[in-house]
Amino acid sequence: MVPGARLVILGRQGAGKGTQCVRLARHYVVPHISTGDIFRAAVKEGTEFGNKLNEYMHAGQLVPDEIVIGVVRERLNQRDTRSRGFIFDGFPRTAEQAEELNKMLDEENMPLDLAIDLEVPVEYALTRLAARRTCSTCATIYSTDRPPSINWTCDNCGGEVVQRADDTEEAIRRRLEDYNTLTEPLIAWYLEQDLLVTIDGLGTPDEVLNRLTRAIDHRSG
Ligand code: AMP
Repeated sequence: MVPGARLVILGRQGAGKGTQCVRLARHYVVPHISTGDIFRAAVKEGTEFGNKLNEYMHAGQLVPDEIVIGVVRERLNQRDTRSRGFIFDGFPRTAEQAEELNKMLDEENMPLDLAIDLEVPVEYALTRLAARRTCSTCATIYSTDRPPSINWTCDNCGGEVVQRADDTEEAIRRRLEDYNTLTEPLIAWYLEQDLLVTIDGLGTPDEVLNRLTRAIDHRSG
């Protein structure tokens, strides 16, 4: 069995992180941890916690750091992440989250292998977000150009494929602004720690996956 991996995938909304993280998780047999997916699952359960999260998410606002960090801490304590590692998708998104992640990993003696910046131009990300459609059950990502084979029914699980509530123009604008001010500075921060690799996110999903695995294998090889 190949060794696991401990990766953080950065990149603005619409860069293709979700699609690539699913593929990387299969390739390396490592849990894909999307904080957005965890929060959407909680919203769907309709608990008080989920309803509170929904207020932030619906408006395209970031969930407060202490909530995000608590959820990640719990997830990192599970057996699969301890044995195989993780691919974080959409986390960390602020300096506080990044610093807390480093602390948690230090405490557990599980150093990060790599932070990857999946880079695409803003206009490209905007077009992709507007076209994005997501399975409301299993979160598989489609687009108006690459729909499921049968009438917006998920090829994976039969769930309904819809436009995400926070993929409206107003919420997209807000999320991209937050990315620029709060998340993009993490790229320089990981670079200072000699943990950063930048990967061109343009091209077919297979081309981008190839670039990613080459960079990861080069780093761990
Ligand atoms: P995503 O699917 O990664 O685009 O996340 C969807 C929404 O979940 C975001 O717009 C935020 O409201 C919330 N969210 C996900 N991850 C984080 C995070 N690391 N920090 C704060 N909010 C988050």
